Amino acid sequence: MTVNKPHLVVVGSVAIDWIITPRAERPESVGGSATFFAMAASYLSQVRLVGVVGRDFPDYAVADLRAAGVDVSGLEIVQDGLTFRWKGQYHENMNDRTTLETHLNVFEKFQPRLPAEFRGSEYLFLANIQPRLQSDVFAQMQRPRLVGLDTMNLWISIANDDLKAVLKNVDVLTLNDEEARQLSGEHNIVKAARAVRALGPRNVVIKRGEYGALLFDADGDVFSAPALPLEDVVDPTGAGDSFAGGFMGWLARPGVEPTGASLRTAMIYGSVMASFCVEGFSYDRLKGLDAATIQRRFETFASLTNFDRASLT
Ligand code: AMP
Repeated sequence: MTVNKPHLVVVGSVAIDWIITPRAERPESVGGSATFFAMAASYLSQVRLVGVVGRDFPDYAVADLRAAGVDVSGLEIVQDGLTFRWKGQYHENMNDRTTLETHLNVFEKFQPRLPAEFRGSEYLFLANIQPRLQSDVFAQMQRPRLVGLDTMNLWISIANDDLKAVLKNVDVLTLNDEEARQLSGEHNIVKAARAVRALGPRNVVIKRGEYGALLFDADGDVFSAPALPLEDVVDPTGAGDSFAGGFMGWLARPGVEPTGASLRTAMIYGSVMASFCVEGFSYDRLKGLDAATIQRRFETFASLTNFDRASLT
């Protein structure tokens, strides 16, 4: 008997970025939330990508996704349009950044149509893109077991109602600390997480860049995953999406239940994939990893927070 492996659908941006860091600049860096997510998740599960690019999108990037095992049959290529473009600049601390430009281009008119075989997939991740498109994709899925979503400050500002509507269908929301504050109106991160959970998502992951990530789960428990202290952060772009890829990728493996201890393991695989992502521009470092390298880093994370239980009594 053959056992069908579960599939993980992702919709999100597929982009050409212009990245400026304090030490380097890369004007044509392939990026996008769905790209980073798919590259990271591809080491853990079967990924199906939904998105759109224009005639300027490099063939090599589609080939790289394919080589990583990602099903790109849901990636539309629009010949009379241009790819989504984003330009961002990192500050000296490499944790804060400023968006200099966003051009939706082909995303403005994009009407996602999921290939028939995608619709019955068990897992869905709605990576950062207009909430309306996230809803469109969700509506075409039959009955996913687990739905994750990521968003950003732009959509919290300009598409708040659409975002709140799609959030009602979400099991796990990932967002960074500033976005959690913006969405909830609460400054304290614990209060912010509680307020965000009240909008629908049973589990909330708050990403804090170089300070790691916090999970507020459906049972009301909190788990803290560190970030790996790295000497040389080349480009943090895509760290959040790679985190989500590792996180969802683990949960989409056969036999893994999205509760308790498995969610914590997922937090570590997320942190592992984010740590690789920031070591290079674009998905350079995510490309060509292997299971042994990923596993070694997983162990490094385990030893980062491993300590003896002591007692004064
Ligand atoms: P992250 O560093 O994980 O927040 O994600 C960075 C990626 O998000 C970049 O590769 C951008 O192309 C993409 N991005 C930036 N702004 C947006 C937006 N408004 N909608 C969708 N994707 C975006």
